[in-house]
Amino acid sequence: MHGLMMNRPLLISDLIEHAARLYPENEVVSRHIESGIVRHSYLQLARRSRQLAQALTDYGVIAGDRIATLAWNTHRHMEAYYAISGVGAIIHTINPRLFPEQIRYMINHATDRLLLVDCSFLPLVLSLLPELPSVEQIIVLTDAAHMPPDSNFLCYETWIAAFHHQFHWPRFSDAEASALCYTSGTTGNPKGVLYSHYSVLLHAMAACRTDALGITPHTCLLPVVPMFHVCAWGTPYAAAMMGARLVLPGAALDGASLYELIVAEQVDLLLGVPTIWLTLLNYLREHQLQLKNVSRVVVGGSAAPLSMIREFAEVHQSYVIHAWGMTELSPLGTINLPTPALQSMAPALRYQHQLKQGRPVFGIELQIFDEHLRPLPHDGKTFGVLHVRGPWVAQRYFRHEDLSAFANGWFNTGDIATIDADETMQIVDRDKDVIKSGGEWISSIELENAAMSFPGILEACVVGIPHPRWAERPLMLIVSPTGNTDLSALRDHLAERVARWWLPDSIVTVPELPHSATGKLSKVTLRNQYRQFYSQSPDTGAAP
Ligand code: AMP
Repeated sequence: MHGLMMNRPLLISDLIEHAARLYPENEVVSRHIESGIVRHSYLQLARRSRQLAQALTDYGVIAGDRIATLAWNTHRHMEAYYAISGVGAIIHTINPRLFPEQIRYMINHATDRLLLVDCSFLPLVLSLLPELPSVEQIIVLTDAAHMPPDSNFLCYETWIAAFHHQFHWPRFSDAEASALCYTSGTTGNPKGVLYSHYSVLLHAMAACRTDALGITPHTCLLPVVPMFHVCAWGTPYAAAMMGARLVLPGAALDGASLYELIVAEQVDLLLGVPTIWLTLLNYLREHQLQLKNVSRVVVGGSAAPLSMIREFAEVHQSYVIHAWGMTELSPLGTINLPTPALQSMAPALRYQHQLKQGRPVFGIELQIFDEHLRPLPHDGKTFGVLHVRGPWVAQRYFRHEDLSAFANGWFNTGDIATIDADETMQIVDRDKDVIKSGGEWISSIELENAAMSFPGILEACVVGIPHPRWAERPLMLIVSPTGNTDLSALRDHLAERVARWWLPDSIVTVPELPHSATGKLSKVTLRNQYRQFYSQSPDTGAAP
């Protein structure tokens, strides 16, 4: 017997209309790509989104069409989020940091009809355009004054200005697709994750809850995580749901610009990947500056190092909330919340606990399995391959036959993790990055964390390098701005924190480390670069 409740679909357009009705004056603040700061109330943003929706409809965009964006975090990008999904089309957010051939692949694979592009990405688009047969029109996300001369492209501001804001959003099933985001592995072509209106709204509700990001109408949040990477962790939706003040940093992600924006707008919640916080903390340290209002920094995408957790706490009185997620999870999976018990702990103990990625938010179930898909105990010690399931987890990839990651009703994340008895999860490593030495596993993340707690180390990366005797041995690469790290003292420091046989056989100082398009350490690049490193010295390395 079915329940007797209204079957009212949860649509993305409802979010912006809700914000406009309940919080008409609350602001979305955005740094322009060209220059300056621009402010829109949710009422204005809803009107502009409706103008864009009308423009898209007038152009002939229909339900299910893919419309791509190559854009930074700005109010115009946010309008595209609402207008494109709102008319029933699918917003395909493209990561401009990917290789041009990957971008070409994604646009052609998705058969995008229109491209909405920030001026800064026009050269990239122009170089690819001859090989993008599905693309009919480029819309430049700017005003007439900043349009490139002699182009056939549409100017966003001029285009939408021709339409009225009294647009009536169509209603349709919330199972319809709303957004498309490709995830790029280290091998093969990127794979598309196709979100629905239902999954986006449920995820936004989960993100706002106090047992997740705790977003309220009084929160002022700044997602540094890009809107082209898993929809900026869903924050443009969650902020509208709560009428929260949303600060969008545009293209200026350097320490000085971020600091200026955080202070000027009195941001209290930051969200981003560790590399961006390394840049910010470095800037603050160099200029002896302190963050005043930031109470919480959500760190995800890669493991938050202990030194970062400590520095935010002790210098800036900001609490690092470590979270874990994936493109396939929209992305929120687990979150390590500041419970009263944690907050009353001695700081050193608490920082250790903050290294864990936390407990699943309601809606997400976690399980670790062995290689025969047998469930493993939640004892905080046993390593297993992490699987998840839930209403905002992908059930397959877009236009992709391979279902191998989706066997047995779970999604195989490709992460290796432990789960404590209280369900707190800790990522040990990426399946591909865990170092297999003499039949045992070494966590590259744990070694990196240990190295980064050594004074003067800005960043550390550990990769498994083929070794004739042990199959693989760890190699550590460090970035130290002073360039005079005492390597034997570092080795002693590591020896106090990890098992002897985990110690890297070599430590190499490098000027910088390569990062992927989503800000993660690009271990595949380093593995290739240092592939031969141990092959000439088969007897090095401690016995496992
Ligand atoms: P993406 O889909 O690009 O967001 O990448 C998802 C992957 O990033 C996960 O499978 C993890 O390997 C990694 N990841 C995300 N959050 C964390 C975290 N807090 N700690 C360690 N790894 C993480």
